Amino acid sequence: MQKKFWVISEQGELLAEMINGVKLLGSDAAVIAAALGCERAAKIAAGAGAGKIYYFKLNEGAPVEAAYTRLAQLIKDEGADLVLVAATRRGKTLAALLAAELDAGLASEAKIEEFGDGSVKTSRFVYGGLAISTDTFVSGIPIVSIPPRTWERPALVETESPAITEIACDPGRVRVVGQKSRESSTVNLEEAEVVVTIGRGVKNREDLAMFEELAGLLGGVTACTRPVAEEEGYRWFPEDSYIGISGRAVKPKLYISIGSSGQIQHLAGCRDAKVLVGIDKNEDAPIFESSDYGIVGDLYQVVPELIKQIKAAK
Ligand SMILES: Cc1cc2nc3c(=O)[nH]c(=O)nc-3n(C[C@H](O)[C@H](O)[C@H](O)COP(=O)(O)OP(=O)(O)OC[C@H]3O[C@@H](n4cnc5c(N)ncnc54)[C@H](O)[C@@H]3O)c2cc1C
Repeated sequence: MQKKFWVISEQGELLAEMINGVKLLGSDAAVIAAALGCERAAKIAAGAGAGKIYYFKLNEGAPVEAAYTRLAQLIKDEGADLVLVAATRRGKTLAALLAAELDAGLASEAKIEEFGDGSVKTSRFVYGGLAISTDTFVSGIPIVSIPPRTWERPALVETESPAITEIACDPGRVRVVGQKSRESSTVNLEEAEVVVTIGRGVKNREDLAMFEELAGLLGGVTACTRPVAEEEGYRWFPEDSYIGISGRAVKPKLYISIGSSGQIQHLAGCRDAKVLVGIDKNEDAPIFESSDYGIVGDLYQVVPELIKQIKAAK
């Protein structure tokens, strides 16, 4: 019998990535997509090749997890051999609620290592990134939350074929009484082809202009390590600008790490960069073990020289 894989997200882009991922896993499973609170996401899932699409219409302001009871019921009714939930902040909460409702196992922010007959094997970071846990689901419906960009994103096409089924959700137990936006990064780190990241080796806020200039010359964006964001009280960079296991994961063509020692928790967010360049004054800094190219030197000399050379080359 043909297997059934669910892909679930509030973002069409992430649905498309997971639908592509099912193909890359070499599976011919039928894909059922659940687009939460976003009709465009449902259309993108249709364009990406889902065989069945549900659009969960949420009450205004309701969080996506409000869909979980209805969604769990549908998963039970339709059946599932694997449930993939995009690991956004909301998605991770939803995945946990679904697992509880379905009495199922959950691998959070994991990669699928193997998909065999009746068993799914995943790997994920544990102990703050110090170890990798490999888990095998042996019974129940395997639920896995998948970090964005785990799989290549295909070109996005919006269609309404196959037909999209609209599902009305119960209001749920959470009622949103107000919303307040917080300062957030305006740069799209996940999409950036070049990321210039600074660490604690940078001493002053005024120095940021130098890194922005470097990033600008390369058509990229700037980011930072967690202590840079936190210790400066998010005045240098907003909270969602730091890279790492508890921050953002990026997959650029070029990642330049400046004045960051390269601890495992940080590297977890940039290990998929195509080329990693490390710049640090300490030649024993762990960043150089993971770098394709390393420059040992004082960043206040190296970066201005790099800027000069790039300008000259242009
Ligand atoms: C559970 C947990 C989760 C974590 N999650 C994250 C995370 O998501 N992201 C993250 O970034 N961190 C995270 N951390 C923190 C992480 O362990 C490191 O402490 C942090 O990444 C170090 O930041 P850094 O490289 O900027 O600072 P440091 O480790 O202090 O490195 C600074 C570097 O700058 C160099 N330097 C100093 N001056 C100069 C100069 N003038 N020129 C050139 N080089 C210079 C030094 O040689 C040094 O190598 C986490 C930690 C834990 C325990």
